[in-house]
Amino acid sequence: MDRPRILVTNDDGIFTEGIERLATALSSVGEVWTVAPAQERSAAGHSLTLHSPLRAKLVGDNRWSVDGTPTDCVNWGVLHLLKDRRPHLLVSGINLGLNLGDDVTYSGTVSAAFEGTLIGIPSVAISQEIETGFTFDAAARFAEKLARRLLEKPLPAGTLVNVNVPAGEPRGVKVVRLGKRRYGEAVVEKTDPRGRPYYWIGATIPTGDIEEGTDIGAVANKFISISPLHLDLTDYRAMQVLEEVVAGIDRT
Ligand code: MN
Repeated sequence: MDRPRILVTNDDGIFTEGIERLATALSSVGEVWTVAPAQERSAAGHSLTLHSPLRAKLVGDNRWSVDGTPTDCVNWGVLHLLKDRRPHLLVSGINLGLNLGDDVTYSGTVSAAFEGTLIGIPSVAISQEIETGFTFDAAARFAEKLARRLLEKPLPAGTLVNVNVPAGEPRGVKVVRLGKRRYGEAVVEKTDPRGRPYYWIGATIPTGDIEEGTDIGAVANKFISISPLHLDLTDYRAMQVLEEVVAGIDRT
């Protein structure tokens, strides 16, 4: 069999250390193609560019930059660049900063993996904790081992994997659920040089509930967290309650 094809992307931009380390680590596992945003698109979520053209530029061997979002990059990479032989795996990262708990809906890193999953490619997102003196070494090593393993033993269709790597030497790996992340609620108001107000959201560093069995708890205890995510956002617990709510609406 031919070497497996691996599509690498991120939301930090094509010229970042994290994506270069990831592509290098995965090159021992398969044929790596990198398609990533020309500029940083962190917190772009799952947005898709529909109302302006996209330009792609070859920037190295099997490396392309696209002037769009991470989701655009996955679409262009899978449905255009590699359409003759689709990738067997997509890996997004290594993101500069954790994507824990509720972060996953804002995260361009995780959204790229969501998009890969939607178009039928087994997908992984991997993010690195930033602390003074951190390196991408442990994350790159783990990405390589995980990619090798997922190509042998795939997850069910529709499931993607979210990985977070603590700074320093990890104590091991824990399969965990998403925790609860808390962002400061303050909107910071300042005044611009013309005397008009402007605002800054997300200015405070998020905190999390350090709970056993969650990604936040695992990383706080210096373990690599790994969580299976799926795209069915239905809250099955609430189906019956919603039936009762709807039954009480006068439909005449
Ligand atoms: Mn990012």
